[in-house]
Amino acid sequence: MKVQRLTDEVLEIDIKGIDAPIANALRRIMLTDVPTLAIEKVILFQNTSIIQDEVLAHRLGLVPIVADPNEFASIEYDSTNTAVSEPDEYNTTVMTLQITCSVNPNASLAAPPHIAYKNDTVYTRHLVWVPQGDQEKRLRTPIRPVHDDIVIAKLRPGQCIEAELHLQKGTGRQHAKWSPCATVYYRQMPHIEIVEPFTGSEADRLVKLCPMGVFDVEDITSMVDTAPANSQKTAFVARPRDCTLCRECVRDPNDEPRIRLLRHRDYFLFTVESSGSLPPEQIFRRALQEFEAKAKEIESSMDIPRYVTPICAEDAE
Ligand code: SF4
Repeated sequence: MKVQRLTDEVLEIDIKGIDAPIANALRRIMLTDVPTLAIEKVILFQNTSIIQDEVLAHRLGLVPIVADPNEFASIEYDSTNTAVSEPDEYNTTVMTLQITCSVNPNASLAAPPHIAYKNDTVYTRHLVWVPQGDQEKRLRTPIRPVHDDIVIAKLRPGQCIEAELHLQKGTGRQHAKWSPCATVYYRQMPHIEIVEPFTGSEADRLVKLCPMGVFDVEDITSMVDTAPANSQKTAFVARPRDCTLCRECVRDPNDEPRIRLLRHRDYFLFTVESSGSLPPEQIFRRALQEFEAKAKEIESSMDIPRYVTPICAEDAE
């Protein structure tokens, strides 16, 4: 494995030596089996905004939340998908939303809504965390939305929203709001072979043909004094990972037999984009742990004896 790029939101990592089903299983585990915290219950005391209660609750549920899921227990569900655990400070935390829109007495009549009214837009920054029990001391990071400026609703003077929000741990398998990933995708490493060399002006033409700059020109005469007099500049594959397999370089029927566009079967270029609730490298690491746990679960449920190293006759003596 080799990390190519790591930012707060994106991880690009190369993995060699695995098959496509394993790569796809890893991708799916990242999307659906890495837990996060999300708003699960919305208790509305007042909502006089134009947005309906159920739409408001749905929007709140989709707000990505920064929290360490390891610090919370999961809610247990029975066979009818009904929660059987009682909410407490170990499996639930609480946020509140209390906001009222009013006229700004200092604004002119022609002022736009964001100046004419106070609190005309409800943002995620208006959500206030209310720690339960010893959560303020016990949790290493305060619970907060990933972004402060996600629009939740619009209000006009006299309208208000008053709600209590219960946040619980879950996975993308239960609902997409718990998925820690905006997206996860992979592609196989391109493998480009130049079967018949492109030299001289042909080499320059090939370099210009590729929109991704995959090819470069090697000019031996300018690099080595002892190069043969008849040496010519030659095109070579300089940046294979940039190839998008657009086939532009083999569009001309004369070029088609000269270049082979292939892909490595066991070399995957992964991109993990986080929703912000967990750093992308943590999503990847937790997915690997989850993968290992699943493999062990399958192994332990197999009804065949474990492989035992045979004792050779000489050792036995
Ligand atoms: S397939 Fe497209 S991107 Fe890849 S080498 Fe050819 S022209 Fe470049």
